[in-house]
Order: sequence, then C-alpha cells, then structure tokens
Amino acid sequence: MGNYSITIEKTTCPKAKPADENKLGFGKIFTDHMFEVDYCTEKGWYNPRVLPFHNLELSPASMVFHYGQEMFEGLKAYKTADGRVLLFRPDCNIERANNSNRRLMIPQIPEDLFLEALKTIVKVDEDWIPTAEGTSLYIRPFVIATDPFLGVRPGDTYKFIIILSPSGAYYPEGLNPVKIWIEDEYVRAVKGGIGEAKTGGNYVASLAAQVKAHEAGYSQVLWLDGVERKYIEEVGAMNIFFKINGTVVTPMLNGSILPGVTRRSCIELCKDFGLPVEERKISVEELTEAARTGALEECWGSGTAAVISPVGHLRYEDEVFRIGDGGIGEVSQKLYDTVTGIQLGKLEDTKGWTVEVK
Ligand SMILES: *Cc1c(COP(=O)(O)O)cnc(C)c1O
Repeated sequence: MGNYSITIEKTTCPKAKPADENKLGFGKIFTDHMFEVDYCTEKGWYNPRVLPFHNLELSPASMVFHYGQEMFEGLKAYKTADGRVLLFRPDCNIERANNSNRRLMIPQIPEDLFLEALKTIVKVDEDWIPTAEGTSLYIRPFVIATDPFLGVRPGDTYKFIIILSPSGAYYPEGLNPVKIWIEDEYVRAVKGGIGEAKTGGNYVASLAAQVKAHEAGYSQVLWLDGVERKYIEEVGAMNIFFKINGTVVTPMLNGSILPGVTRRSCIELCKDFGLPVEERKISVEELTEAARTGALEECWGSGTAAVISPVGHLRYEDEVFRIGDGGIGEVSQKLYDTVTGIQLGKLEDTKGWTVEVK
C-alpha cells in the first residue's frame, strides 16, 4: 500500500461472523485479525504486521500492568450503500494519539505508519464491517509499555496494537435521551494531570462515580473541575454541549478535558448551521440557573461511540432538571443526522472528513 512493508498473515480458521447484526452490542466481538508493531529504543518502531487475532504473551512484570503506561484511541469504519469503506477523520485521532503519547512519555508513532496500519487492518477484515442501520466497525488502537521491570520510569519497549470490533447501534431504538448525574464528590482529572490524554488511568479514576450514578438510575457522570468542583468539564467518554438562549456553549479545552474529534466536528457544524458557538468556562451554577429559568434549551454529549447523545435530565445535588420536554432537541438531531450522514457517505463530504480505504 504505502511506504511501510506491513506483512500480512491471514488466519487459516476464520471465525463465523455474527449472525444478527442487530444484537452486536459494543466491544464484545473481535474480528479475525489484528495489527501489531514493536518498539525498542535502538530500532524505533519495527516489524509492522497483520496477524490472526491472538492472545498476547507478556511478562507479568511488564510495566503497563504496574504503572499504567498506556494510550488508546477509538474511531470507526463504515460501509457505504455503494460498498465503499470510510474512516472518519483518522488524521485527528492520529494527531491526538501522539499528543497523548507525548504526555505519557510514550514514543511518537509516525503518522504515515499509523494511517497505513489503520487502512491495512480494516481492509483485511473489511467483510466484518456490519451494515445494519446504526452499526459500524469500531477500531481500537493502543500502545502498552512492555519492559519487564518494576522500577518507575518510562518504558524502553512498547507494542502498538490495533484490534477491531463490529459494533451495534448505540441506541437500538433510535436516538434516545439519557439521564446525567453531575458528580460533586469524586473528580476525574485535574489541570496538569493526564485528563487531556486518552489513557486507561482516567477511566479507572471514573469507575466509583460511575457505579454510584448507575445505582441511582443515571447512565453517565458529568464531571466538574478537579480543583473547585465548580466548572463543567465533560462526561468521561463524551464531551458536553449546552444550548442556552440560542447560543451553543461547550467547556473550553483546559488541559483536563479530552479534546474529542466529535466535539470538534460539532463545533464546526454548529457554526455552519449559523448558530453562535462559545467555547468557554461554564459553572454549574450558571447551568442550573439556566435550567431553572428555561434558558437551557438543549444538552447533548458528543463522542465516537454514540456520536450524539441527547441529554433529557440532569441531576445536581438534590435537584433534578428536565431539559426542554426531556426529549431529543432540534440541534442534537440535526448534528446526529449530519455527522452520521457524512460517515455513511449519504451526505456529500464537503469538508474532506472521510478517508476511503481501498
Ligand atoms: C474518547 C473520549 C471522548 C470523546 O472523543 P471522540 O474523539 O469524540 O470519540 C471524550 N472524553 C473522553 C474522556 C474520551 O476518552
């Protein structure tokens, strides 16, 4: 394909593809192959290869198991009605991966190697891309430090791996508003920490609050800033948007918020729709006041998995706020239709956001 000689070893015993594409769920099924490339300080990245999907053999002393030096990404491949395979803004994921790597002291991955690896593995397992309404092939690239060493320092050896998972519609019954819990006890990340890197450590920090929110009947946690617990940050796997008195508002990137590709796309599209967009600090007081007075017209989360997740209810301390009529807002629906329309090749990609895998 390109400049890297990625070797391909195909499986001799392909798995049966999922029988019912409407029951895929998320992240439970994996395709026949995976991509793997190794790193050591002397050689850099070497031996890029596609292999049959397999378990890893690692020393139990591998650094990733003890101090969590790992980075991950998430994006999707789609099959269009005329049979083309499209990736959505992979350049943004590659750029973000290397920003995460920089923060996590993981070596940079050459952008052309990364893109070629994505295209190659998706091409090999192209037949695994589901086509039922709302489905896609979720792509999970990740890097782990593999040195067998219990001291604390950045690794000298790494593996960069890409696995693929056919995924179902996030909302099997169509776009569905979620209930969100504004967390006032735990925090996810602080400025100066690793909140803006896509890494497992941020997720383990979020589990206790997630369980608490689930037990109270809420599907996601909305995080406040880690210092004052005063300003809105994000939902932990999604960024957050509000429409207040006709203006779209989203928290500005501040070092502890993950810069979502879907967030960036929503901002560009809202501007195209002619809506005023503000990236700024927004306090929980401002938000709850806007909810009380009816100025809060809409709220939605943005992320690769759900694309757009309309928010119907917000809970803060002992108050529950219904947003609009608790249903799907106009802008949320329009963003969902536009982003998924471009992803599936149904709408013309005037922005050059899609990359075809040939
Ligand atoms: C991945 C992620 C998002 C969403 O980013 P997208 O690129 O839009 O998928 C938001 N917050 C966190 C913490 C994430 O890990």
